[in-house]
Amino acid sequence: MRAFYHPDQALHDPQQYMQIGRVVAPKDLPVRTEKLIGALTARDIAIEQPHEVGPDAIRAVHAPYYIDFLMSAWDRWSALPVHGVEVWPNTFPYWNGRPEEAARPPCPADSIIAQTGWYLGDLSVPMGPHTWLSALRAAETAISAAEVIARGGRSAYALCRPSGHHTRSDRGSGFCYLNNAAIAAQHLRNTFPRVAILDVDAHHGDGTQQIFYHRADVLTISVHADPLNYYPFFTGYAHETGLGDGAYFNLNLPLQPGSTGDAMATAIDVALERIRAFDAQVLIVALGYDAHRLDPIGVLKLEVEDFGKIGAQIRAAGLPTLIVQEGGYAIDVIGDCLGAFLDGLGG
Ligand code: ZN
Repeated sequence: MRAFYHPDQALHDPQQYMQIGRVVAPKDLPVRTEKLIGALTARDIAIEQPHEVGPDAIRAVHAPYYIDFLMSAWDRWSALPVHGVEVWPNTFPYWNGRPEEAARPPCPADSIIAQTGWYLGDLSVPMGPHTWLSALRAAETAISAAEVIARGGRSAYALCRPSGHHTRSDRGSGFCYLNNAAIAAQHLRNTFPRVAILDVDAHHGDGTQQIFYHRADVLTISVHADPLNYYPFFTGYAHETGLGDGAYFNLNLPLQPGSTGDAMATAIDVALERIRAFDAQVLIVALGYDAHRLDPIGVLKLEVEDFGKIGAQIRAAGLPTLIVQEGGYAIDVIGDCLGAFLDGLGG
């Protein structure tokens, strides 16, 4: 198992998070990276630094005007005569939510305040002075790990933070700024005709779904808590199956709140059956631990051992596997969850 991580990813240090009408302590703390690194070092897995690829490598997935916004947002925000400690939107433009429209046009206004509302979709994606660098490094981590798989490696782990799976082609949300798993999938398409992404996180991988919603070459599957009463609320339903060329190449498997490892294991079996039918040559697992019962923003009830079972199920699928880190905010257990998953994957 090769693993990648860059220390710059811990520089992103959000100060604010809006939850049910209150500004509360952020959940995506830099210390998360230390806990995950601990699980790797405990297993003698060396941590390699990704190589720099720069922003061009991510334009294959994200709109250029969105990348321009991310790169310039902090400087423009901090140049405002009066501003808060982070880039944080206070306007939310109407979007019709129609998935058949793959991307919106660029923001019509030049104002950084307007663009912040246009490109940051909710109040969980504040941007500080280092957010862009951390997000870029996370994407580079995903690409470096993907290159291991492209060269014939059987497994690789990308310790991505910030996470990625809520990022659409042109909009950040849900602690995510660049869609690391989608960037890796696009990169792997240079080598493999058919790539499958299995998103195992308490939250629907809405950004990943949107990016590939019209495509048949990247199968997207997400197992997550039912969005009827859980973020991201507006997508993640079973009837969302893809459009156009992508019809039936998206599968959502929502779980009822309170579901345990048994329901998760059943859903993973369904997902892997679909991946077999798709005849994927490579599998990307977008892996979060916020399905653990102790997660501070979770509604599912998995135990640490359940992540080991998921790892074993994925191992049995027998595909080259890239693991891309997503969420998980129970600081005291996320390292154990990663460790259990890797043990299961390793057999
Ligand atoms: Zn999550």
